Amino acid sequence: MKSLRLALSACTVLMAEAATAADSAGLAIIPAPREMSVTGGECAAKGEPKFETVASIPPEGYELSVKKDGVTIRSSDAAGAFYAKMTLAQLKSPGKKTLPCVEIKDAPQYKWRGLLIDDCRHFFGKEKIKRVIDVMSQHKMNRLHWHLTDDQGWRLDIPGYPELARHASVRAASAKHGTRPHVNMKDYSHLLNGEKYGPFFYTEADIKEILAYAAERHVVIIPEIELPGHVYAALSAYPELACFPERLKGKGPLCAWGIEKDVLCIGNDKAVKFMEDVLDYVCKLFPGDVVHIGGDECPQDRWKTCPKCQARMKKEGIADVHGLQPWITRHFVKFLAARGRRPIGWDEYLLGDVPKSAIGMSWRAGGGGAGHRFLTPLECVKRGHDLVMTPRTHCYIDYGQGLKDDPFQYIGGKVTLEKCHSFNPCEGIPPELRGHILGGQGNNWSEYTWNEYDLDWKMWPRSCALAEAVWTGDKKPDFANFRARMETHRKRLLAQGVNCAPLE
Ligand SMILES: [Zn+2]
Repeated sequence: MKSLRLALSACTVLMAEAATAADSAGLAIIPAPREMSVTGGECAAKGEPKFETVASIPPEGYELSVKKDGVTIRSSDAAGAFYAKMTLAQLKSPGKKTLPCVEIKDAPQYKWRGLLIDDCRHFFGKEKIKRVIDVMSQHKMNRLHWHLTDDQGWRLDIPGYPELARHASVRAASAKHGTRPHVNMKDYSHLLNGEKYGPFFYTEADIKEILAYAAERHVVIIPEIELPGHVYAALSAYPELACFPERLKGKGPLCAWGIEKDVLCIGNDKAVKFMEDVLDYVCKLFPGDVVHIGGDECPQDRWKTCPKCQARMKKEGIADVHGLQPWITRHFVKFLAARGRRPIGWDEYLLGDVPKSAIGMSWRAGGGGAGHRFLTPLECVKRGHDLVMTPRTHCYIDYGQGLKDDPFQYIGGKVTLEKCHSFNPCEGIPPELRGHILGGQGNNWSEYTWNEYDLDWKMWPRSCALAEAVWTGDKKPDFANFRARMETHRKRLLAQGVNCAPLE
């Protein structure tokens, strides 16, 4: 502890001084509050805190005053009051009945503080999703990006399309633990476990229950419906929505990972209507103002030779196949706007002529192109798009965390706890354009994440570091300070049954 404290810079900003004070008082608040002073003495903490509404406190912000004779919480909104309670819970030391007296003024730097859960490659189910919402909200994270549809499974029951729940939510087999089946392999059958996976999907009642649970914790759910790529599960249920239906006949969701070439037929009005029906239902079910429409990794191979796609291009005056995805993106930007929603999508969906109201989600900043064209964060904001930063260099929770003797399998790459903590959503963005950066999120892709223990291990403590990065922003304490607080906080997570990985 002593060496850690000596390692802290002497000329730190107020934030770091506050966090050092927290540390010296044995406090472990994550994310660190923006301003905090430990005023001395203890509060007996009997009875409910006193709540006051103060209009001048920023959205989601709060003031927390713990005095010997009681606790007062001030905020301008319900979210701020909720976050004050989360801080209050972290002020308590295990086994201690009193609280240290403190004065805290706190508010987030970014309004989008998210986590992505991929329920397609592996399915976690209603109770686990609720646990994720509960734990993320303790860290003042407020956006659950829910990846509900992909090549390997469709997880949402849609009225009028019964085959999605019956057929597209079941796959014939999954990867054997430790193997890496890939769609580009000629034969990967020896890498599969032969066990039917599913049916796994959410009903309307499930979704409503989860939404109510999330709303109580000030978490907005962002549903993701992938289009026009990553739709193989849906195409296997309704082959007529693909460019070449005969390729899909008798097929089910993919059992291997990778980028699939059979995608939505953009020339087929029925395929467009299918996505309209799905998104219309999603807008009726999910109250959030943003809907994720995927847009990543969509090969154009089939469109090049599909008569319907070629006819669409001719009719709409689209010069080459690169113009088809922007055409359908524009269509759904308009479609969602008519329902009071803004779309968000992976960075390459902003290529071509796409309205500024479309929000980008940047995953390749500083990390190369993964073989696809895409816009850099700077290009996105220069075009006037708002952006959520999820660079795989800092935010990909499915990458290895650099632990010795790690029992779990990762997709590859390395994102350490320190790397997560160093995440700066505004990196490389000039000050005058930073207003476009809405925030950031950690992405838990689940190709190699089999179950909830595996998910927890990968997600925590790295998401604690990401939560601190997006809450404190430019007032973030240094890593040594975070790590010292995390020692205590990890015990708190373990006591709740969260399978938090060691810090090392
Ligand atoms: Zn087509």
